[in-house]
Amino acid sequence: MQVPAQVEYERATSVGHALELLARFGPQARLLAGGHSLIPMMKLRLAQPETLIDINGLSELSFIERGAAGELRIGALTRHAELLDSALAGTLFPILADAERVIADPIVRNWGTIGGSLCQADPSEDLSAVFAALRATMVIRGAEGVRTVPARSFHTAPYETVVGPAEILTEIQIAIAPGTGGLGGPGGPGAAARGGPAAEAGPFLMGSAYEKVMRRVGDWPVGAAGAVLWLAAGPAAAPAAGGTGGPGVACTIAAAGIGLSAVGARNFVAAEAEGSLRGGPATEEAFAIAGDLAAANCRPVSDLRGPTDYKRHLARELTIRALRTALDRALGRAPGQDG
Ligand SMILES: Cc1cc2nc3c(=O)[nH]c(=O)nc-3n(C[C@H](O)[C@H](O)[C@H](O)COP(=O)(O)OP(=O)(O)OC[C@H]3O[C@@H](n4cnc5c(N)ncnc54)[C@H](O)[C@@H]3O)c2cc1C
Repeated sequence: MQVPAQVEYERATSVGHALELLARFGPQARLLAGGHSLIPMMKLRLAQPETLIDINGLSELSFIERGAAGELRIGALTRHAELLDSALAGTLFPILADAERVIADPIVRNWGTIGGSLCQADPSEDLSAVFAALRATMVIRGAEGVRTVPARSFHTAPYETVVGPAEILTEIQIAIAPGTGGLGGPGGPGAAARGGPAAEAGPFLMGSAYEKVMRRVGDWPVGAAGAVLWLAAGPAAAPAAGGTGGPGVACTIAAAGIGLSAVGARNFVAAEAEGSLRGGPATEEAFAIAGDLAAANCRPVSDLRGPTDYKRHLARELTIRALRTALDRALGRAPGQDG
């Protein structure tokens, strides 16, 4: 079936108006952002909303900026292409551009939105793993007001999120410590509770990266891994010659974030791998152990994209590669340069 069922159409003029429309038309209404997921599902009759509420006119949801507390704020209606092109986002968190570069093709990236991708909640979606690794915060607005949810608690099941039928995801926030020149950290209120080091323990050297294997350019991942490293920024972390830190000294990992996509990781997170890295040295041996744990604790399913054992292999290998690149970036080194 390639023709959607008949549907009513409403165009929201503000977030408040969109919420009013959601309340008026009830659970059979769906928000329409880029439509790259929703419209194909309607054509296949996998989704049959009675009313589409078009939010494409809501410029108030389209932004990439620093917030008052120094956090990076990404509006839910930001297009993939805008995130890919953002110097601010790409400089602070290269993992974002790494992932955006390999999401779909220019046509999808030009119109598909960050919020739509996250709310679609496909188990192979790339940004869910990225924001989980970054320990981002989702901002959700409803009639009762605004609430925030950690990215790691955003998904409740494949294609299901905590966003209620009368709510809108409005933005994603990523905490960063004040500072420039690559110094960053997961600070901000509740940072330690989210599994990152407390802001006052900083400053940190921070690096991030995303690695994905797909069958052809623009395809969904067969497997993908994102890594974020926060290194204790002391003398040992100085990128001097002769090792991963100072001569013969490995940097200490204050916290690590590892997100996995398409391999059945709970909440898109490799929690055991993160735990093995926290407080230890940033070495190849530590990365290999983290890779083993990532592979052992995910639950991939065999499908057209690949068999289970291959996906587990990808979870291991891509975790290690992402960690290596994250370390290089934290230390300002060229890829693969050890000293
Ligand atoms: C050919 C193709 C290749 C692709 N490849 C990849 C890939 O490699 N990796 C990847 O991760 N993705 C991939 N995608 C998915 C693509 O990124 C998403 O389809 C798209 O970005 C979803 O965003 P959208 O704005 O189009 O959402 P829509 O289709 O408009 O909406 C999707 C769902 O989210 C809901 N929604 C939208 N915005 C909000 C909001 N602000 N608050 C609450 N609910 C909301 C809608 O009601 C709907 O249920 C691909 C898609 C296509 C078509």
